[in-house]
Order: sequence, then C-alpha cells, then structure tokens
Amino acid sequence: MKKIIYRLFNNFLMPSRLDELEKLLLAAIFEGYTFVSIRHFLDLARNDKLDKRTRYLMLRHDIDTDVKTARALWQLECRNGLRGSFYFRLQTANIALMKEIHASGAEVGYHFEEIATVAKKKGLKGTINLPVLKKDAGELFCNNLAALRQKSGLPLCGIASHGDFVNRRLGITNFELLTPEIRKLMNIDYEAYDAELVNHLSSRFADLEYPGIWKPGSPLDAIQRGDQVIKLLIHPRQWYSSPLVNAQDDLNRIYEGIRYWAT
Ligand SMILES: [Zn+2]
Repeated sequence: MKKIIYRLFNNFLMPSRLDELEKLLLAAIFEGYTFVSIRHFLDLARNDKLDKRTRYLMLRHDIDTDVKTARALWQLECRNGLRGSFYFRLQTANIALMKEIHASGAEVGYHFEEIATVAKKKGLKGTINLPVLKKDAGELFCNNLAALRQKSGLPLCGIASHGDFVNRRLGITNFELLTPEIRKLMNIDYEAYDAELVNHLSSRFADLEYPGIWKPGSPLDAIQRGDQVIKLLIHPRQWYSSPLVNAQDDLNRIYEGIRYWAT
C-alpha cells in the first residue's frame, strides 16, 4: 500500500527535484571532477590517456519516458558546462532534441529493448526457445537502429540496454541479443554495461523513485571521498513529475501486461 502511495506521489505530486540534482553536480564541480560522456571516457581509456590524478564523472541518462524533462536535464547540465550521455528509446526518440543534444557536444545513443519487444509480441512465457528469441530480437534491433540512424542522421554507436517487466519475468536482459556479429555489423562502439567500462568504475549510482534518491548509497559521499571514476544513472521520471506522461506510461504498462498475460 505504502508503495502504491509513493508511486502515485512520484507520478503526480512530487515537486521538482532538479534543484537537488544540480546541487550534487555543483558539489562535484567544486571537488574538481571532470565530466565526460561515456564515449569520451572510453576513448581516453582505449588510448591510454586516463590521467591518474583526474577524477571523472559520467552522467548516463536513460530516457525511458518524458522528453520534456530530458530536455530540462540536458539544459541544466549545459548551463553548468557539463556533457553527459543520453540514450533514447524508440518511443522517446525525439529527433529534434537528439540533434540538439548531439550538436551541444553531449552524446546521444540508443536505449534498446528488442528482446522484451519480441517476447511481448509473441506472449512468451515459461519455456522459451532462447536462440530463436535472440535471433528475432537481433534482427529487429538491427532494423530499428538503422531506421533511427537514418531518421536522425546521428551515429548512435553507443547503446544501453533498457529493463522491462518482461525481462524480469523471463530472466533475460536485452543485452543478450548483442552478439559479436551484430556489434560488428551495426558498428556498435560500446554497450553501457560492457566490462570495458564497468571495470574502470570506482563507484556507480542509480536514481530511485520517491522517497529514495539514489542506490546503493549517496553519490555525494563518493564525490567527497574522491572516488576516481563515478557513474550516475539518471531517469527523467525520478526528477520531475509530469502527470500526463506518467499516467500514459502507467496505462501503457497495464495494457501491455494484460495483453502479455492474455496471449
Ligand atoms: Zn530504461
């Protein structure tokens, strides 16, 4: 019950928490952190250019919903001279915003979910044929990414896996569709959960629905103790409540759930 009340508050009544995020980012600036996109960080790492005395902070934004708040997050970071990475789903891929973010020097990537899409479409539950699911999802991923690249004119070489209720139900992440062949064929530079990136992180945090803010702890503590490489995962929904967008998203989830279980 408490969970439902918090969810409703988060969706419809929560005051903006953008100020709180800005305060945290200002603290990191004050502590001397260098903000880099994930792509930029990996470029430095691959070219042996990471500086041991420099502290790095990466801002990863998964735009699951709410393009308007995504814009507000980007503007907040821009006015503080920060550049992060923004991953858009097909349903949030606002081409104008993606182009603006790219033009500002921040990174734009694809937030993909084709295993969940295929599983939902086919109503897959119980025993599943994993190779077939991966193959179908892989093909769909290639088509979707190619179409998005064409529509946006952006390279979209960095990608990040989305998590859906179907992934949790089946115990299969969207990441699993990424074979070495697909990476090569689609010129994928990295996936945000690749060990190549994760192994460099001193600490990482993800934002939480109200009343929480971050898990597994406080990024401010990590900043103040001077962790060398920090990554923050940010979702628009946790920082600003857009009632209409959230109601639509919740209804969509309910509809998808009913359709999935009825198939
Ligand atoms: Zn997501």
